[in-house]
Amino acid sequence: MDYQDLANLVFPNAKDISFYEEKYKPRNLKEGAIVTRFAPSPTGFVHLGSLYQVVIAKKLAKQTEGVMFLRIEDTDQKREVENGVIGIINSLKDFDLSADEGMIDEENEIGEYGPYKQSLRKDIYQAYAKYLISQGKAYPCFCKTEELDEMRQKQENAKIRPGYYGVWAKCRNLTVEEAAEKIKKGESYIIRLKSPGNEERKIKHHDLIKGNVDFPENDQDVVLIKGDGLPTYHFAHAVDDHLMRTTHVIRGDEWLSSIPLHLQLFQVLGFKTPKYAHISPIMKEDNGGKRKLSKRKDPEASVSFYTEQGIPKEAVVEYLLNIANSNFESWRKANPNASLDDFELKIEKMSVSGALFDIVKILDIAKTVISKYSAEQIYNEALEWAKVYDKHLEELLQNKNYAMQVFGIERGNAKPRKDIAKWSDVYQNISYMYDSEFSNQKVNYEYQKITDKEEITKIVNTYMNEYYDAKDDKQTWFNKIKDMAEKLGYAREVKEWKKSPETWPKGHVGDISTVLRVALTGRSNTPDLYEIMQVLGKETMQKRYETAIQAL
Ligand code: GLU
Repeated sequence: MDYQDLANLVFPNAKDISFYEEKYKPRNLKEGAIVTRFAPSPTGFVHLGSLYQVVIAKKLAKQTEGVMFLRIEDTDQKREVENGVIGIINSLKDFDLSADEGMIDEENEIGEYGPYKQSLRKDIYQAYAKYLISQGKAYPCFCKTEELDEMRQKQENAKIRPGYYGVWAKCRNLTVEEAAEKIKKGESYIIRLKSPGNEERKIKHHDLIKGNVDFPENDQDVVLIKGDGLPTYHFAHAVDDHLMRTTHVIRGDEWLSSIPLHLQLFQVLGFKTPKYAHISPIMKEDNGGKRKLSKRKDPEASVSFYTEQGIPKEAVVEYLLNIANSNFESWRKANPNASLDDFELKIEKMSVSGALFDIVKILDIAKTVISKYSAEQIYNEALEWAKVYDKHLEELLQNKNYAMQVFGIERGNAKPRKDIAKWSDVYQNISYMYDSEFSNQKVNYEYQKITDKEEITKIVNTYMNEYYDAKDDKQTWFNKIKDMAEKLGYAREVKEWKKSPETWPKGHVGDISTVLRVALTGRSNTPDLYEIMQVLGKETMQKRYETAIQAL
């Protein structure tokens, strides 16, 4: 009996690997094209750090006319949740980061290199495991859990490196006859790698992000195929990334220490190794220290947080590019209106240590992103968001014509307003423009310099009776406010007043506008007052000013 006979006994139905090598041909892409992937477990949860990986993977693939595919890694069936796959697919869609190949819903997929769900690739893994057994490079292991526990205990007591290797790898030395007999007797088993490594020797490896690293060789006879017939992550990684013709493995740096094993697997399988880029996690400041952004502790670790808050997807993607390459910021300054597609991401420029999460920065980017939207775009996106998350806002937005006027205030000009960072800000941002809301709100009129009841009444009445005219253009309107200031004993220009405040003890034109603004909107900080007046119209203004006077 030889290794081939043992292999046949273990996997009688597995195909020869030449079948798969032939089926999944090298991709016909242009020189330098990057083929990479996003390979999540279907836990339904997408971490911001995973989205970060996707942004990088997708961008590199796009830049080089390559491919980014989605592979569902569901070999650990304990971790699976219902609808886990669709949750991931939808999250990618939400950020315009859908994969070029892979699963498109719970059942269907696109692409020639599938199945893209590992649990459907059992035959493939078994074919490669069979091949290794036939070469004497893998073997069935019959050790029971209790035996392994006992072994670990012994190693621990003797302070020896733990694991299944060297003299500890009991089943490695079974003859093929012994192994065959156990199988025939019906003993259960798993398949292990017969590691050719030696702990004393070092391997050198170049990681695209981490640079040159060296590690001791792997000498562990790791599990390739588990008791349920499914592969371990390590084995599946080697087989899949080979057959799917991945050129670059871009993944979290928690896998960096597995490099010696992975390189060894590629070597024993006779595969060309891909390039590796291990991404540092996104960090968060915590009590003066730093820790990883945590799924358990930080709501903002989940990508659904951004969708729920209504932070535009472009802002999140832009933020992630920002932390990916430190030159992004200066590129953005030089090209404020360029599409993100025009930025060339360089993997070698990614930082070795993890970037610090910064929500202020995200919101700041979001404000800029939204400031460039047209009123119509804002209307559409806010409405889409409101339909899911804020029914009241949805109702408010039913009158599109009016909403467009509100969103149009100080927009479409050279310096558009930057006061909305997320769709969940919109209600608070515009509610005072709606009488239905304003009349129900408890308004706290915070007048600033001018607080005297009579003076305020006089300003408001004079304005409405003598100066207001809906047909005025902005310049005329402003000149009239100045005229009114002068008439009421205030400085026409703030500049003049500053030069000699004693000449105008009552104040200046700005103080007058503040009164008109606060009494009209209940806020001291609003966009352009002229435009607000244009949108509200005479009747509403009259009503609001009366209410304000009553409240004095
Ligand atoms: N399923 C692995 C994970 O979620 C994938 C790592 C990889 O990209 O290879 O961590």
